[in-house]
This record gives sequence, C-alpha cells and structure tokens, in this order.
Amino acid sequence: MVSQSEAVAPDLVLRSCRAEGHDGLVDVALAGGMIASVEEHVELAGRAELDLEGRLVSPAFVQPHIHLDKVGTLPLLGGNRSGTLAEAIEILHQVKRSSSVEDVAERAGVVIRQAVLTGTTRIRTHVDVDTVGGLTPLRGVVLAARRHADLCDIQVVAFPQEGVIRDPGTADLMDAAMREGADVVGGMPHWELDEASARAHIATCMNLAVAHDADVDMHIDETDDGASRTLSMLVDAVGEREWQGRVTAGHCCAMAAWDDAYAADVIARAAKARMHFVTNPATNLLLQGRADHEPRRRGLPRVKELLAAGLTVGCGQDCVQDGFYPFGAADQLQVALILCHAAQLSTPAELDQALDSVRSAAARLMGIRGYGLGRGCVADLVVLDATDAHEALRLQSPRRWVIRAGRVIAQTVTTSVLSRPEHED
Ligand SMILES: [Zn+2]
Repeated sequence: MVSQSEAVAPDLVLRSCRAEGHDGLVDVALAGGMIASVEEHVELAGRAELDLEGRLVSPAFVQPHIHLDKVGTLPLLGGNRSGTLAEAIEILHQVKRSSSVEDVAERAGVVIRQAVLTGTTRIRTHVDVDTVGGLTPLRGVVLAARRHADLCDIQVVAFPQEGVIRDPGTADLMDAAMREGADVVGGMPHWELDEASARAHIATCMNLAVAHDADVDMHIDETDDGASRTLSMLVDAVGEREWQGRVTAGHCCAMAAWDDAYAADVIARAAKARMHFVTNPATNLLLQGRADHEPRRRGLPRVKELLAAGLTVGCGQDCVQDGFYPFGAADQLQVALILCHAAQLSTPAELDQALDSVRSAAARLMGIRGYGLGRGCVADLVVLDATDAHEALRLQSPRRWVIRAGRVIAQTVTTSVLSRPEHED
C-alpha cells in the first residue's frame, strides 16, 4: 500500500540514467531538495521530468581548495619588469591594496559561475587575511558567496598568506575574519622564518579554531625543501588539542623531497590524528621543482601512500589565472585528470580514487553531510555526456545538466559533427 506522503509527485524525475553501482538504467526521483529514490522504474510522474537517455548521473563535484580572492588577477599583474619573485610579490601586494570589495567579488563571481557550469556546487576557498589587504579580500569573497548562494555553497578559510608571526597584526585580523564570515581557520606555517615561529603560527591558528569551534585547513610545506617539516608540527598540535578529524593539510609538496622512512612515520602519525589532505597538482606541478636539474622534484604529496594509509585525499584547483598559474577552468573533472597524471593513478581502482578526490573525499574533508547518490542524500547532481565515470574522466565529457537541491541550475549543449559526405552511405 502506498501512503499519502509517498504518493506526492516528486519535484523532478530523472529517467533512464546510468549510475555507478547500478548495472542497468535507473530512474532517480528528487523531492524537497533530496534524493527520494533511485530505482529501476519510478512509478510516479514528476512535476518535471528529464530523460537522460542513458547518460551518467553523478553526485556534483566538490572543490576543496581554491583562492577565489586571487582568481583572474593575472591581467592586473602585467608589469613585472625584472621577472623576479620579489617583484611579483610586490605587484601582488599592490593589487591586494588597490582592489575594492566589489573588484574581488566580481572576479570571484566569474569563477564561481564557471565552476557551477562544470558541475561543482560546493567550494572551499582560502582568502588572504593579512596586514596588506586587511579584510577586503574576505569581504569580497563573502559578498560573491552571498550573490551565488542559489548556485553553490561556499566555505571560506581565513588564510594568513603573509605569515602570522612575521606579519604582526594578522592574529587579530584572523580573529576578526572568523567573526565576519570565515568558516574555517587557515594557516601557512612554513612561511615563517624559523622553526619556533612555525610552531607559534600553528599554535595561534589552532587556538583560534578551538575558540571558534572551527575546522582547520592549512597550507603545509608548499616548498621543495625536504627540511620543511611543518606537517609533523601540525600533527602534534592536532593531538594536543584533540582536534582529530577536523584538520586538513593542503599542498604538502615537501613530502616529495622527504626520505621514505621519515615520510612513512609522519603519514602513520597523521592517520592516527585522522587528518585530511588536499593535493593541488595543477599549480604545484607548474611551480615546484623549477630550480632542480634532473631528477626533478614534482612537488606532489605522496598520494598513493596517503591513500594506502586510509587517509582522505581531496584534490583542488588552487589557482585560476593568477600570478602563480595562468590556466585553470575551475573544472574538477579536469583537475582529477591532472591528478591521475601527476600521482600516476591508472588502474580502475585508482581512477575511482581520483574521481573520489573531487567528489566524496572532498566532501568528507569539508564536513558536507548527505553527499552521494543514495536515497536521502542532498540532490546536488551533475549529468555527464558519458556512460560511465571512467569515460567521463578520459573524454572530459560535457556536463549536460547541473542540479542543485533538486533544481536544474545549468545546462551545456555541445554538438560536434564530422563533415565527410563521401563516407555517407
Ligand atoms: Zn593554496
């Protein structure tokens, strides 16, 4: 017998879908912003219906690491006459000082919309908090997040880009940022000038997280220097404050230069602390190891070893058209493919892990509830012009529809046709 509540028409029914974990085609019913059912045939007609004609439906992509306050600044960074990093940083500071809240919000908005069009509906962004730009970058990104709240959930990380100890005043600004809309406490301890300062940086940020009951997501060891060991310091701090399961370490490039025994020890301790990791292979492959001759350090964390230790590894875009990286389409399917090349993921199980890094793993480290394609999950979905996820990864398939809380928010129509009249029969 069908109860009255079950008989209510779903808001949207997706017909003839392929879905991972299902052999044949399925229908997916969406109601109240959630997935109401995934079954061979949904009897009830939806208030709206979409025929997927055998296309793949997937949980929407998740972006765990991007810098929305810096995106699109590359054209403003033109005049680096010396080509040096020092001049690049000086120009970056000029842009940071001269940008208004509206400037930041407009540049961020372009990339948010691009992310949504390619199937991403959740974003975690780091935002500079320092004495150069004050809280302007934060206010700009928070404004952009508010303007796009119908399309995308955005978590903001207060990120002390210039250091905490070496940029006096930042600790107070970080506290203010957490009161003004930041959700997560960031950090960049390897940027401090000595080990004691790096430890003090971590302590300041961890204390702030405890005070605000916030998760932590730090830039860690983003350098080729194998002597950079702030991950170990962060693991210690997680244990001391019992912040297990709430801390993410991003970048972790120095891991590529560590010896195996040291890396194995730190990874085992990180697993005990239930830490999460984010790798950003696009930017780091481009930036790291530049001063090396061969063999060249690739600037990646030890992705396979982290996964083998049972750790959550998300994969981020990091940069879009800024002073560090001239590319970036805010497309997580592209980022997952770059990860496969960077971390040498090639078996079917490894391709699944790469896809997880921009879906369930990224969602887990961001604390997103109800992520997935099961009944009761939030109906944030992407429909790909592909029959399975590996094909979508290989061909970078178009995102036919993007669905947010049960509503279609974006669609892409592409047509490519060969013109060969002499071959027509
Ligand atoms: Zn970053």
